[in-house]
Amino acid sequence: MLRGTVAIVGRPNVGKSTIFNRLIGQRKSIVDDTPGVTRDRIYGEVEWLTQSFRLIDTGGIQIENQDFGDEINMQVDIAIEEADVILFVTSAIEGVTSDDVAIARKLQKSKKPIVLAVNKTDNEALQMMQYDFYQLALGDPMVVSGAHGIGFGDVLDKIMDLLPEKAIEPYEGITSFCCIGRPNVGKSSLVNAILKEDRVIVSDVEGTTRDAIDTPFTYNDQEYMIIDTAGIRKRGKIYENIEKYSILRALSAIDRSNVALFLIDGEKGIRDQDKHVAGLAHEAGKGVIIVYNKWDTVEKDEKTMHKIEQKIRNEFVYLSYAPIVFVSAKTHQKVNQLIPLIDEVHDACCLRVPTN
Ligand code: GDP
Ligand code: GDP
Repeated sequence: MLRGTVAIVGRPNVGKSTIFNRLIGQRKSIVDDTPGVTRDRIYGEVEWLTQSFRLIDTGGIQIENQDFGDEINMQVDIAIEEADVILFVTSAIEGVTSDDVAIARKLQKSKKPIVLAVNKTDNEALQMMQYDFYQLALGDPMVVSGAHGIGFGDVLDKIMDLLPEKAIEPYEGITSFCCIGRPNVGKSSLVNAILKEDRVIVSDVEGTTRDAIDTPFTYNDQEYMIIDTAGIRKRGKIYENIEKYSILRALSAIDRSNVALFLIDGEKGIRDQDKHVAGLAHEAGKGVIIVYNKWDTVEKDEKTMHKIEQKIRNEFVYLSYAPIVFVSAKTHQKVNQLIPLIDEVHDACCLRVPTN
């Protein structure tokens, strides 16, 4: 049972990535094994007893053209938006620094549950340092050593206590789907196009899950939910365009969906980042539809569609079961095929066993 998302925050060098790797273990993913795909993961799933949660290492979210202080600030923002529980990592060797204090203030304001970990507590002398951290006013510090694997059982128990009781899963009895893909592939345009389809009646009640801006609608008297994640999007494109952040957003949408529409930008063609996004849906064991969007921009003859299909099959071998459609969110061309296809894929994917 997936209980939610935990984000690791902290200034550089306190041991965030060491702790991240220790907690997620050495689990390999097909996505990371695909050539040409970036290997430095920043998310993973942690299993503890019979349950699990998603873990994000915000230290791995690089933000271009930001100075050091702004970068930490943005990482903490992302953690606050995306996580149910925040694991704030500090270092016993250096003690409390002014950056720690700044992060602690921000976290306090967020009212999110915080677990304060004092890392690098490798020996008894360093254990004494934990008392220094009460000044952050985030409760009892928990001493750990990422390097030696000390203290994590208690940290995991505490995290499990703080995570929401309810599992993260799709709405019951409704077909839920999301649009995923790189920034600017046309996700919001496609959502709007679907909602303007004939026979689509948008309900006036908003989705009720936390942080969600899900849109319920009916089509031929059947209920559907478009899953979206509000996230930091409301703060503007600067966050949206952070590649790794857009991956995290896709992940949390997929968790709550039965089917993911994986969009490719027909104008730009397939990019490496597309493989990463597609792999997320596949690994989560969800139904996938490959949507080649911006079809209106593609110069085509009678062979073009076939050629592109073959290219997609070669690039996304693990998605061999996923149907491919060519649409234009802008002109609405072929958007009407999508809902019937979503039904089909939803029915079919209930029979497919997740690969991991
Ligand atoms: P990040 O920048 O916060 O992700 O930190 P890293 O995980 O890259 O670790 C920074 C440095 O601290 C590395 O040299 C690690 O080997 C070291 N480190 C991590 N955990 C511990 C620990 O528990 N004890 C000690 N002594 N060093 C650690
Ligand atoms: P998102 O970042 O994935 O949500 O992408 P948007 O929906 O914001 O679209 C990004 C840009 O692509 C916008 O300028 C859209 O008008 C444009 N766009 C989206 N879909 C299409 C399409 O099917 N054809 C064309 N020509 N442009 C599109």
